[in-house]
Amino acid sequence: MNVADSRRLATTLEKLGYKITKDLAESDLIILNTCVVRQSAEDKAIGRLSSLKSLKIQKPDLVINLMGCLIGVHGNPAIQKRFPWVDVFSPPSDPSPLLEFLAKQPGKSESEEWRSKIDSIMDEEYSRPEDNESLAVSENIPIVLGCSHACAYCIIPSKRGREISRPFEHIVNEATAYVEHGAKELVLLGQIVDRYGLDLPEKPNLETLLYELSGIPKLRRLRFLTSHPNWMTDGLIDAVAKLPKVMPHIEVPAQAGDDDILKAMRRRYTSLEYRSLIQKIRDRIPNVSIGTDIIVGFPGESIDAFNNTKQLLADLKMDVAHLARYSPRPNTYAARYLADDVPADEKMRRFRELEILQEQISTEINSKVLGQKTSVLFEGKSKRRWRGRNPNNKLVFVDSEENLLGQERDVQITWTGPWSMIGNLI
Ligand code: SAM
Repeated sequence: MNVADSRRLATTLEKLGYKITKDLAESDLIILNTCVVRQSAEDKAIGRLSSLKSLKIQKPDLVINLMGCLIGVHGNPAIQKRFPWVDVFSPPSDPSPLLEFLAKQPGKSESEEWRSKIDSIMDEEYSRPEDNESLAVSENIPIVLGCSHACAYCIIPSKRGREISRPFEHIVNEATAYVEHGAKELVLLGQIVDRYGLDLPEKPNLETLLYELSGIPKLRRLRFLTSHPNWMTDGLIDAVAKLPKVMPHIEVPAQAGDDDILKAMRRRYTSLEYRSLIQKIRDRIPNVSIGTDIIVGFPGESIDAFNNTKQLLADLKMDVAHLARYSPRPNTYAARYLADDVPADEKMRRFRELEILQEQISTEINSKVLGQKTSVLFEGKSKRRWRGRNPNNKLVFVDSEENLLGQERDVQITWTGPWSMIGNLI
């Protein structure tokens, strides 16, 4: 979601004549887009912010914009006080505070053209790429902003605000514009992406959106994330199975495999219900890959409860498991009412245990592709190798002198590991 927000802001700024630089010292404007989902992410953001102070002292005209969940939809006066060298504070997904600041910048605010450019950008209903702009091969489109679910551990609802679905036509227009400007794959985003449309008057849903977007002629691939087990309808699963452009790849977090912990997390499903859903997805979507998220060390997680989660992973053999150690987040139900009673070293031990298990599982699953043909959409280069993804979202590297950027090509896999594969163009 942050990558998408940063991308949209970059597009907006390019319309005002800004260009991206990799050299921090060269920049006139720095935007630090922050995540606070775990304490470690927040610490990283604070560290970066502190390091920008000396740059601002050397270059007082530099504009520093702090954006995202560290600010949140309700603002963060403590952070504003602590970092007075920041010029603009913006909530997640909202470029307007920065645009308003830039509109008033000395030397520019007198220009009619400058102000009218900013006004027209602020009036835009959706992010429209510039005519000469070339987009990434795979672009993210947020379709549901915020979240109203209130899982006990999660800070997102208080930082990104309540769930709001973007209008159907805006998404279709944006998607069409992205594809016209070179994007080959679109990834539809939402904290619970399968709740798309429930808050809109015409009640469109993710399934109808996938059908509609599949009709964009030059679009090659569609994905969506993240799903919640309670909101994945049969219609949605069938749409993934039926629509050739929708990739057989689902991200549906379990978070835990123990019913007491799931209840305490306020996830509102049981481990058995989760298992049945995974079975149903596998029965209906051929060759599907499934990713999950797991939190270890949630308050009250006994060794037995942890072992239930481990068993879930061992039984279900997911393609990917994004593992996290529980970190109490301010104003969440868990931080307020549940003691963070699993010691840090024990959280780490459990994390490592699952990491080792998942590495074995992912190694085994990926090794089945060895020697086989898979279709790869190439997104760029990492060092000397081309990097792309297959329909299952597996990372594939290929050596080639050709320019493969944006091409979808058949690759024969010659090596597989737990996190990536290597192959040759066929
Ligand atoms: N909306 C999705 C969901 O809840 O399933 C993803 C939300 S979050 C951006 C990504 C992951 O961060 C979650 O799935 C969860 O595993 C992890 N996470 C969220 N809050 C956490 C916390 N307080 N401590 C540790 N991990 C956390």
